[in-house]
Amino acid sequence: MKKFIPKMYQQSIYNINYPKLKEKGLKLLIFDLDNTIGSVQEEVMNKRTADFLNKLASDFTIVIASNSKEERVKKFCSPVNFYYVSLSLKPTSKSFMKIKKKYHISYQEMAMIGDQIITDIFGANCLNIYTILVDPINNDLKITSLNRKLEEIINKKNKLIRGNYYEEK
Ligand SMILES: [Mg+2]
Repeated sequence: MKKFIPKMYQQSIYNINYPKLKEKGLKLLIFDLDNTIGSVQEEVMNKRTADFLNKLASDFTIVIASNSKEERVKKFCSPVNFYYVSLSLKPTSKSFMKIKKKYHISYQEMAMIGDQIITDIFGANCLNIYTILVDPINNDLKITSLNRKLEEIINKKNKLIRGNYYEEK
């Protein structure tokens, strides 16, 4: 069950202590798309997020990995120039392997940032990628999905309470 616990948990991508990630030697940040850097309704990345990620890109390589279709990811990412993986099949290692190969870096130098325990955190933890959980942008939308229900059960077992943010575990 430990593999379902993120190393860091913050409210949003804007609350993460990025200088600390740099200090830890992390070089590449993988962001989930839906409910992490954009709401499900947003077709294109908003300016605030684009500016924020572009600024982060001076310190880290930024990659976007989404289980959504190419069409969705391509359009959403159109305001920025980051490498993205669509149909990433998280939580499998497929997209992580692809990113590792492309950038010639180790999993220990990568961080995965996402809103879902099962798709974003579990798979990355299995590869020793640094994991950061954030709250979903639209809290109520996916609450009925199977993943969210499973996540509730897992979080209960792990005593992870949504809203109780922490810097490192
Ligand atoms: Mg998501």
